[in-house]
Amino acid sequence: MTHPPAGAGSRVVVIGGGHAAAALVGLLRQEGHTGEVVLVGDELDHPYHRPPLSKKFVDGELEQWLRPPEFYGEQKITVRLGEQAVAIDRAARTVALDSGADLSYDVLVLATGARPRPLPVPGADLGGVGALRTLGDARALRKWIEEGRRLLIVGGGYIGLEVAAVARSRGVEAVVLEREERVLARVASPELSAIMSGCHTDRGTVIRTEAAVVALEGADGQVRRAVLDGGDAVDCDAVLVGVGALPRDELATAAGIETGPPGRGGILVDAGARTSDPAVLAIGDVTCRPIPGVEGPARLESIPSATEQAKQATATILGKPLPAAETPWFWSDQFDLKLKIAGIVAPGTQTVLRGDPASGRFALFHLVDGRPVAVESANASPEFMAGKKWIGAGTRVDPEVLRDADAALRGAAL
Ligand code: FAD
Ligand code: NAP
Repeated sequence: MTHPPAGAGSRVVVIGGGHAAAALVGLLRQEGHTGEVVLVGDELDHPYHRPPLSKKFVDGELEQWLRPPEFYGEQKITVRLGEQAVAIDRAARTVALDSGADLSYDVLVLATGARPRPLPVPGADLGGVGALRTLGDARALRKWIEEGRRLLIVGGGYIGLEVAAVARSRGVEAVVLEREERVLARVASPELSAIMSGCHTDRGTVIRTEAAVVALEGADGQVRRAVLDGGDAVDCDAVLVGVGALPRDELATAAGIETGPPGRGGILVDAGARTSDPAVLAIGDVTCRPIPGVEGPARLESIPSATEQAKQATATILGKPLPAAETPWFWSDQFDLKLKIAGIVAPGTQTVLRGDPASGRFALFHLVDGRPVAVESANASPEFMAGKKWIGAGTRVDPEVLRDADAALRGAAL
């Protein structure tokens, strides 16, 4: 199927009011798109930053807009908030909203993101049990922390550990239950998992790995304890569920647009954000796409990835050259550690540690045949920057120079 560019005067309808959508509508105008642009979001708030919701949600403002609300009017972008897209008619090129409106499009962009994976156990609907994705979720979590509730966190991924760090910094009890044998198993190397685990337990977070909740129990409708698969129980006053995210790809599936394999899901797109329908693009957490350094299409849930795909979609719509292949990167803040990760961490690499984790400043380089494929850094921006550059360029490095924190970093490149 060919995908002709839609052109600068096309009518673009974007479904979703998150990072990917907000980046796209801004880029379209910046790059010279003059046609109508409509953004439809089912949340009531203007697009906002999600990262602070798990990091800075106790101190300061939660409502951090991605663009000032007046931006959209100034740029002649129509924003329809509190409305949900419910069906796509691909033949008629219209999308139906739950308000009853039908919007016609030349190009439809699906930027519907992801939703928290539910915890499939009895008691998950008790009061005091919640996930974290939206401003409303973060407001509830902030209240729990301010009330000093004993917090049980199910899932030791980014959400679980970032929230645990905030809770402990406030002196609130935090127990993390992780089903895998280590925390951050999906996103970090075993070495970084071990370092972060130590960092948390040193500050009073209780981490239990290979632990799965089988039931939540309560009194008067409020959660009071979690029962684990071995029969143990953990008392608590609130439960934060951080067990992953599922792509919101149901609109595409119902319209017969191709999605990823069962279990992974996501709308299948190419390097130009194009789906199996030439008039429909998809960007952000909802997609399954080619990623440099990864075999086959994969899902990448991050702001840099959403921003990258917004650039790809802009180029496709305007018929401009696609951006060069990116090196994926991620960040996370936990206690005083600012983690920055570039590349994709995979098993079977040679790992080189530079710096001392005990000092709070270090980097783990992961090499294949002498070339970095990933770098995981903490409070070490130069190492992150150099590693990211080397990964993109396929540069060979000298592991011995790299591991010597007193040797100049640039001397490691061969
Ligand atoms: P979202 O931001 O999820 O936006 C999708 C929007 O579309 C939502 O508002 C949704 O309600 C709306 N929508 C869905 N379906 C419809 C429909 N049918 N009709 C209308 N609207 C619809 N990433 C990082 O890189 N660094 C971080 O530090 C980081 N921290 C995070 C902290 C938290 C608490 C969370 C939840 C995520 C964090 N992420 C972080 C991940 C990052 O936020 C996501 O990768 C990013 O938001 C993806 O953008 P998106 O636009 O694809 O999806
Ligand atoms: P995540 O990174 O997928 O971590 C969830 C963890 O919970 C996984 O290790 C998972 O193990 C485990 N788990 C699943 N079911 C469990 C159960 N029943 N009991 C105990 N553990 C269980 O997802 P997340 O931390 O929930 O984050 C959600 C989304 O927000 C993701 O898209 C994430 O990228 C994003 N986010 C990103 C950042 C950041 O980039 N700094 C910060 C916050 C959030 P299995 O692998 O076995 O399922």
